[in-house]
Order: sequence, then structure tokens, then C-alpha cells
Amino acid sequence: MSILDSLKENLEHIKNNQQYRTIQPISNHAKKFIELNDIKCLNLSSNNYLGLADNEEIKKGSIEAIKQYGCSSGASRVVSGNFEIYDKLEQTLAKFKHTQKALVLNSGYVANLTLIQSLSKNATIFCDKLNHASIIDGIILSKAKFYRYAHCDMEMLEKLLKKETANKIIVTDTIFSMDGDGAPLKEIVRLAKLYDAFVIVDEAHASGIFGEGRGYAFCEHVENDIHCHMGTFSKAFGSFGAYIASSELVIDYLINNARGFIFSTALPPSVIGANLSSLNYIMQNPLVGKKLLSIADELRLFLKSLGLDVGNSISQIIPVILKTNELTLKAQKILLEKGIFVGAIRPPTVPYNTSRLRISLRADIDKNELEFIKDAFRYLGNVI
Ligand SMILES: *Cc1c(COP(=O)(O)O)cnc(C)c1O
Repeated sequence: MSILDSLKENLEHIKNNQQYRTIQPISNHAKKFIELNDIKCLNLSSNNYLGLADNEEIKKGSIEAIKQYGCSSGASRVVSGNFEIYDKLEQTLAKFKHTQKALVLNSGYVANLTLIQSLSKNATIFCDKLNHASIIDGIILSKAKFYRYAHCDMEMLEKLLKKETANKIIVTDTIFSMDGDGAPLKEIVRLAKLYDAFVIVDEAHASGIFGEGRGYAFCEHVENDIHCHMGTFSKAFGSFGAYIASSELVIDYLINNARGFIFSTALPPSVIGANLSSLNYIMQNPLVGKKLLSIADELRLFLKSLGLDVGNSISQIIPVILKTNELTLKAQKILLEKGIFVGAIRPPTVPYNTSRLRISLRADIDKNELEFIKDAFRYLGNVI
């Protein structure tokens, strides 16, 4: 079979399993109400959790940075791609995260890939089974020995940690992207101390929201026992890029070893300007995340009262687990007809037979809009 034949066969297989993905035209994509194929609907599928992607202050930060520094960084940071607000962003972030240093990477995907690849020489990695794909890809790239423990299963993690003797790394999402549940961080850091392991957390869905915006590790009061905090600017921060906050030793090591940092052009001023404005906004509005979480609490209780399965969500991400692809796609369509757009998440993004709607809430949803969401789900509950 030729390469092209095998590509065709792959796509046919995906289509037959109702897992075919397309990218749809969307208007007003950063707003609360978007237009999807000309239908106006409330967007509950975006990771723009605080609505900052369309915030005037943050847009201004981006525009000012373009005016001052131009449109491109022109090179990697280690050559000539650095500029003042890059350093300012990292210094402000390190202070915010209570670490010695911070380093900005070009995306969350790249940050995990290059962090894990560069730290894992001769290491053994312990990885939650539901960690983000970028963590898995980083592990594969590192060629390190690794174990995947069952989701949040601390007994299994302990058994595995006991088997190995040196250079152990535990890596976990803090808030899991498709389930919205939280990692047992207190237990993870207890085991890490007991078995001498280095701990990396991915705060992609928690930064800006939990722990007054500092992340779930802060919310759980274990921030000082985490060796490496990774997070993104692409979700609650409403912009793009990612960071690693850690000790001076780790950050200096990354600057000298992380291939995804060294061999890639630095993010442009427009992005760094937005990130800095966004960080300032979150530092000045530490309770906006709490507000979002209370909206989520209310909706979660309501969905449970309808008998829907929302898993173990504790966050602004609420899954409605419907199991089959067919039912999930049908439910997505029904909600769209009611004016609400939610993601229909299917394998391989989630395990087989756990297909789901993924509701991601925004802090600027008002009381009427919350009632509108409840009405739509009440209707859905009655017809499926
Ligand atoms: C989105 C996400 C990433 C990737 O971040 P990008 O900035 O979108 O590349 C990494 N980890 C987790 C847990 C994520 O949800």
C-alpha cells in the first residue's frame, strides 16, 4: 500500500468511528457569544476562561508592545531575540509563583515537550494516565523509562516509586483538561519526599483561576514542595505561550539544554505584551477565578440533579459523560439548536466509552446566562 492509500484508509476508519474532525468557520471567536455557521450561540467550548482574550487592557498591552518592539523577535532568545518586557514578564511571574526564576516557552505543548525531554536523561518518569498529550510526547521524546499510573491512583504510584532507586520524576496535570478534576497534590508531594522524587506540575487549566490565580498547587498549599511549575498563557490568560517557574538551577539548565527553547524563534512582542498585561490583570483581580468556580459549583449541582454524570469535576471544566460517540454528537447538536456550543470530546482524546460533552465556563457569565444554560440542559436531559 502506498503512503497516500494508507492516509485514505486512516481517514475512512476515523469517519466510520464518528471521530472525524473538521475545523469550522467561527465569527467573534473571542466573545462570549460566537457565530458558528451563522448561528449565534453561547460559547462553552473555549479555554478563554476569564474572557481576557477580548479584554481592552490586554489588547492595549499587545498593541503598545508592537509599537515599541515591532512584530517579530527576530531570533531565538539565546541569540538576539530577547527584549526588555520578556525579562519583565519572567521576573514578575517568578515573584507571583514564589520561585527563584521563570522562563517563557513558545506554547504549552512545546514547554512540556522540551522540559521533560531535557530533564529526563537517565530518569524514570511516573505519569498520571490522564496527563495531557504534550507530557506523553515529551516522555516519548526523552526515551526515558516511564510508568503510567492509573488516574490519581496513589497506591499504584507508591508501588511504582518503591521499585525504582534513583532519578525519579513525578509529572501530573493539576486540573485535568477533559475531566476538570484535581490531582491529589498533597499525597503526591508526600510520596515525592518519601521516595526522593522531583515533582513537575502542569497548571494549564488552573493558572489564573485557583489559588488567587497562582495555580492549584497554591490552593492546596504545596507550592514549596513542587520543583517545577509549568503553566500556559493560552487559557485563562487569554493570550499565547507558556512558562516554567522553578529554581535558578533548573531554569539555567533549561536555557542551556532545552531544545524547544534554544532552537526556536522567541515569541513576538505582541504576545509578550499581552501576557504581561494579562498577568497584571490577574494579580490585580485575584478573586475573579473564585467567582468562576462558584458559577461552576452551581451548574455542577444542577446537572447532577438532572441525573447527568459530571465525573469528579471540581473546576470550571465540567464533563457530561454520555459514553458513546453517537449520543455525544446528538447531544451537542441539540444544545446547539438551543443556542449553546459545547465540545463533543471523543476517543482518542478520552478513553474509549467515555465520550462526553465538555463544558468550559467563563467568569463573565451572568445570572440570566446561567439560567439559559440550565434550561438548555434541562431540555437535553428530557430528550436523550
Ligand atoms: C492546553 C494544554 C497544554 C498545551 O498548551 P498550549 O499552550 O495550548 O500549547 C498543555 N498541558 C495541558 C494540561 C493543557 O490543557
